[in-house]
This record gives sequence, C-alpha cells and structure tokens, in this order.
Amino acid sequence: MRFEFWVWLILLVLALIAPVGKKPVSVAEPPSQPSKPPPSVSIPELPPSFSISEAYLVVVVIDGLRPDALQRARTPHIDRLWQSGLYSWTAQTVMPSTTLPAIASLLSGVPPERHGIEWNYWAPERGRIAVPTIFTIAQAEKISTVAFVSKRKLEHLFGPETPLFVINNDARHVITAATGYMAEHRPRLIFVHLSDVDEVGHRHGWMTLQQLQAIERVDEALGLLLASLEELQMLDNSVIIVTSDHGGHGRIHGTDDPRDMTIPWILWTPKIETGRELTHPIRIYDTAATALAALGLAIPEDWLGVPVLEAFPEATLNEKP
Ligand SMILES: [Zn+2]
Repeated sequence: MRFEFWVWLILLVLALIAPVGKKPVSVAEPPSQPSKPPPSVSIPELPPSFSISEAYLVVVVIDGLRPDALQRARTPHIDRLWQSGLYSWTAQTVMPSTTLPAIASLLSGVPPERHGIEWNYWAPERGRIAVPTIFTIAQAEKISTVAFVSKRKLEHLFGPETPLFVINNDARHVITAATGYMAEHRPRLIFVHLSDVDEVGHRHGWMTLQQLQAIERVDEALGLLLASLEELQMLDNSVIIVTSDHGGHGRIHGTDDPRDMTIPWILWTPKIETGRELTHPIRIYDTAATALAALGLAIPEDWLGVPVLEAFPEATLNEKP
C-alpha cells in the first residue's frame, strides 16, 4: 500500500515537471490552415515567414556535364562554388535523359509524364510547356526574370512574359550577354543554359580531351559571371545553382545508363562557409523547389521536387517536425 503511494507520487511529480524540459515551440508557428487531403508525396512545407527578401537566384545548366568530368577538368570557378557550397555528385536526371524533357523538369518540379515535354527538338506547333514553372510562379509574384539559352528548342519552356535570349554561340558569348543584361536590369531570377560541353560530346565523345577542354572554357565563362555578380554587388545576396540536364557516354545520351542519368548539383550561397556533400538523393526536379525556396515563394503541393532546405538556415530553423 505504502509502496504504491510512493510510485503514484513519483509519477505525479514527473508528470508535473515534464513540460519544463520540453523544447520550446517555435514562435514563428505558421497560422493554422484548413485541413487538406494529404498529398501523395510528402513535401516539407516552408513556413510562410520564410523569405530571403531581394535575393538573386542564378541557375546555370551546363548541358551534358558529367560529375566525373569535373574531377578530370581544371575548373577553379566551379570548384570555388562546391567547396563553399552544398553539392551532390550523384544527382539524377529524368528519362528520357535529353535536354528538353530534363530542363522542363528542372523548371517545373515534375517528371516528363506530368509536364508533357517528352520530345527534344524545336517544334513550334507543339506550343509551350503547359504546367507552372519557377518562371511563371515568380512572374505572378512580380519577380523579375530573364533566361539566356544556347539552343532554340528551349523556347518551349518559357512564356511570352519571360525576357528570353537565344544565343547560338559559346559560353563566353552567352555569359557576356547575361552580364550586360544583369548590369542594366538586375533581374532576380536568372537562368543560363550553356551547350558547349554537350556539342563537343556529340562531336568527339564524352570524357574525351576535347570535352574536358570545353568544360574548362565553360568554367572560365562562369568565372566572368561570378566576377560580374561581385562587381554589381549582387553576389553577397545571391543563391547560385550549377547543374546539368544529363550526362552522356560514347557520343550519345538519352538512355537510362547511369553515365547519362547522373548529373552534378551544386548550390552556393554566401552563408555557407565550407563545402558539404548532400547525403540524400537529389533529383533534377528538386532544383525547381529549391529555386522557389530561395526566392521565398510557396512550393506547389503537387510537385514531386523537394527543396534542399539545408541551404537556407532561416527555413530549417522553423521547419515543421
Ligand atoms: Zn546532347
């Protein structure tokens, strides 16, 4: 009888002191929302309070770049980004592993069967991408955008609201046009597509000396872009993503071979001091979700892409359990 009394007393005391040891709940708790049916894929929700106000987002797609080619080529500027950024050498593109379907996924957060761009050539009669992209979502929020692409077929992926420049030339020309535009207009969402590495891959083969040299020229051009961002005092408030649309083997790509499917994925912001490899799997459509997170915009619930939230400490602090 007495023993039971003590057990009950101890349990009572424990129950009373327990809440003291609990982690305080975040003060920035998002307001309660009407309950919706859970989406089929679980997507971490960004707190509405999160925003990197006035951040610039620069997305650079180096067409046909394999992660292992970066180990062989001399690329000081790309190295600077991943060595003080977040990176994955095992990110995966979509099938078919070709430019138009893959970049459509990169911009729209969904795989080809959802965005419908399953061809890989310029076909004006087929119209433009019909699902929302980071461009249409940013434009709806009055965020200024611009795209510089080196293949005309990418016109399928941008609406008429997007200032779009098709520059069928090498990386240096594309970057020069981009930096000139940036100096004048200071757009907040900047997309740059560089086709050099892919073109040399088709001509001479993937991982050939010629292709590694093309990667080095693209890296030099990227150095001009970084210098320009710095000169324009945009760099300190930039989020830069460097990735690819697909890899390649022999003189082709488009298959589900790991050499075609595996792409590098690098994210740099001035807030990250030392490079860190992302341990979870990255898919090309995570780029779209991460881009919206960088701009402080809500991510559509039906997207398959999830943001790399660890890039933004403000977001992870308030992240829901
Ligand atoms: Zn190609």
